[in-house]
Amino acid sequence: MSMSRNSRGTCVFCGREMSGRGMTQHLKSCPERQKAIAEADQKIKGIRTLYHLRVSDAWSGYYWLHLEMQGDATLDDLDHYLRAIWLECCDHLSAFRIGDVFYFSYPPPGGWGQERDMNVRARRILSPGMEFNYEYDFGTTTELIIKVLDVRKGGPLSSRPLFLMARNSLEPLPCSQCDQPATQLCTSCVDKHGFYLLFCEQHAAEHGRKEAYHFEYMMGIWNSPRTGQCGYEGPAEPPY
Ligand SMILES: [Zn+2]
Ligand SMILES: [Zn+2]
Ligand SMILES: [Zn+2]
Ligand SMILES: [Zn+2]
Repeated sequence: MSMSRNSRGTCVFCGREMSGRGMTQHLKSCPERQKAIAEADQKIKGIRTLYHLRVSDAWSGYYWLHLEMQGDATLDDLDHYLRAIWLECCDHLSAFRIGDVFYFSYPPPGGWGQERDMNVRARRILSPGMEFNYEYDFGTTTELIIKVLDVRKGGPLSSRPLFLMARNSLEPLPCSQCDQPATQLCTSCVDKHGFYLLFCEQHAAEHGRKEAYHFEYMMGIWNSPRTGQCGYEGPAEPPY
């Protein structure tokens, strides 16, 4: 899939649409977000630490999320969230790499140096300005970059460990055979730029018939950096 485009996305607080770079700036000053925070701060008993994370895919940067993570939430909570919204296909191993330490989703495989599990709270390890990596599946790997943009003290915006503040929108790409929006790609065929061939419903069916066995290589297009990888078939929706 061609991902040389810049993606836009929507702020959940005010509904405004803008570029990824604009969103990072916007969330600092969005009046509706400030209002939501002021309300959350009034409700809370005792102060919480809350982290503003920007998560993006390492390969294209086209896909991004702005999340607020509670300080008491764990890397395990973040792993579950990322799997639900973007990644889960066959329950692969995943890991965060923070400095020299690997935090694994399953019992550490051994041979990676400092290995831990994901049962560690955000407030123990995160600080503003930090950047770290996450990998899902050590075969067909999807790599993410997570940046801690900010931290605040006050009331959480939800009772859940993570709150989605903004994400990129998937702008439809055209079918390789016509002007209809593509909904599927063939992981066995590439265009002259080396990207998977894209098809609308009708041409996907035609391509699957014409090219022997290519039905088996057709996959859905999702608002996820795992599109076209392993057995990924969405739904690319947040878990809550
Ligand atoms: Zn806004
Ligand atoms: Zn898989
Ligand atoms: Zn078509
Ligand atoms: Zn094909």
